[in-house]
Order: sequence, then structure tokens, then C-alpha cells
Amino acid sequence: AQARIGVTGLAVMGRNLARNLARHGHPVAVHNRTTARTRALVEEFGHEGAFVPAETPEEFVASLERPRRLVIMVKAGAPTDAVIDGFAPLLEPGDMIVDGGNAHFADTRRRERALREIGLHFVGAGISGGEEGALNGPSIMPGGSVESYEALGPLLEDIAATVDGTPCCTHVGPDGAGHFVKMVHNGIEYADMQLIGEAYDLLRNASGLAPAEIAEVFRTWNGGRLESYLIEITAEVLAHTDAATGRPFVDVVLDRAEQKGTGRWTVQTALDLGVPVGGIAEAVFARSVSGHADLRAASRDLPGPVPSRLEDAAAFADDVEKALYASKIVAYAQGFHQIQAGSAEYGWDIDPGAMATIWRGGCIIRARFLDRIRAAYDADPGTPTLLTDAHFAEALGDAQDAWRKVVATSARLGVPAPGFSTALAYYDSLRAERLPAALTQAQRDFFGAHTYRRVDRDGSFHTLWGDDRTEVTA
Ligand code: NDP
Repeated sequence: AQARIGVTGLAVMGRNLARNLARHGHPVAVHNRTTARTRALVEEFGHEGAFVPAETPEEFVASLERPRRLVIMVKAGAPTDAVIDGFAPLLEPGDMIVDGGNAHFADTRRRERALREIGLHFVGAGISGGEEGALNGPSIMPGGSVESYEALGPLLEDIAATVDGTPCCTHVGPDGAGHFVKMVHNGIEYADMQLIGEAYDLLRNASGLAPAEIAEVFRTWNGGRLESYLIEITAEVLAHTDAATGRPFVDVVLDRAEQKGTGRWTVQTALDLGVPVGGIAEAVFARSVSGHADLRAASRDLPGPVPSRLEDAAAFADDVEKALYASKIVAYAQGFHQIQAGSAEYGWDIDPGAMATIWRGGCIIRARFLDRIRAAYDADPGTPTLLTDAHFAEALGDAQDAWRKVVATSARLGVPAPGFSTALAYYDSLRAERLPAALTQAQRDFFGAHTYRRVDRDGSFHTLWGDDRTEVTA
């Protein structure tokens, strides 16, 4: 045995992860179903470190130190099961299989249970940052046994991104916890991108700014509290000109957003857990709306307001900055609520502040803002929502006039801003002394005898709506 860890599945992600390990001085065994990929890796990058190429699964397993650490980086879904089924019989109790792919956490729970029964540790590790992150330092969200993290953690922390000397990797919790957190991370990423898209759209269509001018606005924002990777690349994209046409690049890209499914999983799971994640849901739906070319073509001539432009572009940009920051706080608060709900449902005991910490580098939503979230959980680990944290509450209070103005402007001018609107509605719903849910309960009791509770007495009640409308105890 010559290798400390092994990677099987050497497409972009696996190859870069193996190179990252090798560059950090860890001898790494490499294997791929199609051996050409293994050979190509060693030929091209063999000088970067100690690679131990293996052509067969048996050779691969034999090259690993015990207990064996085997990372699978193959296509998520059935291929992952096929690879696990192929390797498990070759392993011994105490060995560890890490799935670094984008697995659904329910699959990870199932796999962990099955492998635990034969004495193997299964670690579902969310890995964020794409191919660049895999090579230079991703954010890693590993779930699994404490024992497996003791053996794997130091290696993973070594290759993860670091911010202020802290690695962007920590033990998230048992079984599916890591993949769950990675899923919510992606959901938050959808929401963040949608909000940025709406900010751009409003500056463009309400103020009439050109993409290059909006790039400048984003550049300025990136020097403040919104500083983040996504804001930074947005400025880059908006400033880019298409070489073929000389037009702003953003204008030659077809406006149909695609998705690989993790945003959808986040919303589906939130529905199951009963967690309101409007910001993420609207982001998923917005991509869906954009993709319905037929629906959009059929609706193009529906009436809308007379097009008009706001006078004061600079003042409006300041308002949009505030609306963006406030809506972002809400979207993250919703995502963290989902993490806490998942943690409670599955007994994972996830430390939400630690998740904010490991997202500060390596991943797509990396941002200065995450330090604020960490601080909020440090101040009150049991807080039911980030919105009431002193810093966030103050920011929301300070933003609210601008936020309301931006949402009203979007409605008045007919520029859709579902992310801003849902965030504000969530904020106002949580603030409300009374919600119309009382009427909903009364309606449910009327048509379905579903009963209701009263504000002034304990118990469940039903009104005999079809009879003399007396109230009975249910
Ligand atoms: P792909 O998802 O494109 O998968 C290709 C790899 O899977 C190849 O090594 C291929 O082997 C292998 N494979 C497919 N089917 C089988 C099978 N039945 N048996 C054995 N091997 C199989 O690779 P990526 O590198 O893009 O992604 C790897 C994982 O990482 C995925 O789960 C992905 O979702 C996740 N991920 C990807 C990110 C990205 O930016 N690309 C970011 C974060 C996570 P062969 O060469 O023989 O065909």
C-alpha cells in the first residue's frame, strides 16, 4: 500500500481533487472506469505529486493504506450505486467510502445505512466550488460517523479553501447531513443569483442604465457589505462585450436559465419539512418561467403599464442596494431555517454557525456577509431566525423604506421582482400581529369540519355551519 487516499472517477471534479491532494503532498491512488482517463491524468499532471495509478478496482484497493480512504467522484445517482456495489466487497471493516458527488441526502442516508451494516464507513461529502474549487480549495461538507471524520478530516481540511486560517471544511453531522447542507447551499445560491438578477433588471428597465453602467454599480457594491464572489462576477459579466457583435455580452445570451436539480431538491425537501423558503422557491420558479418559451411567446402581448423611466438613477440604485441586502438576509435566514429543521428531523445536531464559516471560501456563495451569520449564531445559538439578530434587524429596519419602494416600483413599472417581493412578504408575515390564517382555519372548518383553535381557550372546536352555527368541542 502506497497511497494515503484514493480517488475513483477522474472526470473534471475527480481529476482536480486528486491533483489537489497530490499537490498537498498526499500520495493519491487514481482510478477510472475508462483507463484512458487515468493514464491521461498521470501523463499530464504526474509531476505535481505522488500519483498511484490503478487499472482495476482490485489494484486500486490494494494500493491504499489501511483503513482505506476511497473517494468516489462519479456521476450522481445510479452510477454512484454501481461504483459502491463494485468496491464494497473488496473492502474491509473500518474502511471509508467518501461520495463527493452531488447526491441527494436521502440516497446518502440509504447508502450509509447499508454500508454500516457491513462495517464500512460511508461519508457523503458535499463539495462546492466547481472544478476550480476542487483544484485550488473547495468548501467541503462531509457527513458521516465521528470516527470516519477523525481519519478523513485532516486530509479534507488540508485541501479545502481557507479563510483567515480556518479551513472551509468541518464535520457536518451523521449520514446525510453533509449532502443536505450542500443541497441547501445550492438552494441559497439560486436565491442569491435571482436577487442579483432582479437588481440588474430593475436598474436596466426602471432606470435605463446600460449593462456597462450597471457593472460599475455592482463594482461599487462589491466594495461594501454586499461584497461576494457572485457580485464580483456579475460586474465582470455585465462589463463584457460580445466579440462577434460588439453588443453587451448579456444581450446575446439566450434568456432561458437551466438547472441541474439541487435547487429543486431544496424546495421539495423544504415542502416536506414545512419550512417556508419562498426566496429559494421563487428562484427555482423564475428559472422555470424563463424556460417556458411557448408560454412566454403566447403572453407577450398581454397589457402592461406604459413604459416609463425613473428620473434619479443614483438614488434608485441606492434603494436597490438596500432591497438586495434585505432580501438576501431573508433568503439566507430561510435557508438556515431549513438546515435547522433538517437537523432536528434527522437528529444531525448541525451547528449552523459552523456552516456559515465553511461557506466563506471555496464555494459560489462565499461572501463577507457569512461572518455576520456566524456572529449571529455565536450571539444566540438557539435563535429561531437570523432576522432578529441585532445586526440583521437593524439592517432590515434601515432598508425597509427603500425595500418597499423598490417592490412598489417593480409592480408599478411591470418589471418582475419575485425574489424581492417574496422576501418582503415573508418579513411582513413574520412581523404581523395577526395573519389571515385565522380566516383560512375558519374556511377549512366550514367546508371540511377540520376544526380550529381559539385565542381565548384551549381545545379544538367546530362550528355547526350547516345547522344553527353553534360551536361544539371537537
Ligand atoms: P460527471 O458527473 O460528468 O461523471 C463522469 C465520471 O463518472 C467519469 O469518471 C465516468 O467514468 C464516471 N462514471 C459514470 N458512470 C459510471 C459507472 N456506471 N461506473 C463507473 N464510473 C462511472 O463528472 P464530474 O467530474 O463533472 O462530477 C463528478 C461528481 O461531482 C458528480 O456527482 C457531480 O454532480 C459532482 N459535482 C460536480 C461539479 C462540477 O462543477 N462539475 C461541482 C460539484 C459536484 P468514465 O470516464 O468511464 O465514463
